[in-house]
Amino acid sequence: MAYDNDNIFAKILRGEIPNTTVYEDEAVLAFNDIAPKTPVHVLVIPKRPYIDMDDFSANGSPEEIGHFFIKVGEIARSLGLHDGGYRVVTNNGENAGQIVPHFHVHIMGGQRIKEGSM
Ligand code: C5P
Repeated sequence: MAYDNDNIFAKILRGEIPNTTVYEDEAVLAFNDIAPKTPVHVLVIPKRPYIDMDDFSANGSPEEIGHFFIKVGEIARSLGLHDGGYRVVTNNGENAGQIVPHFHVHIMGGQRIKEGSM
């Protein structure tokens, strides 16, 4: 499957759609989810065009992948989530609930989830 240049996160990266940026550098953009499912719900995306986790892990360089996940941790700390707990989720593919075909992770926190629930 080829990367779709018209997906909504590609448009955000091109500045065609606004976002509320939480963090940005040369390789990574993080912004508040437009429809938050938890009190804190931030999306982190690489700027290069990867479709999903499968694509990113197979085709991203170790430096790129390392930088990305270091930033995920830094962003969670900067949001004050490290003490209260948070989840890092990525949906890989339509069957897993992926709607936007540009790789992203959800940082979700600010609430206590029921023990044992996924
Ligand atoms: O993992 P999945 O692809 O389902 O997640 C996509 C996420 O992108 C959703 O949580 C949705 O609310 C968010 N979104 C957004 N801004 C948009 C469109 C979708 O934050 N303009």
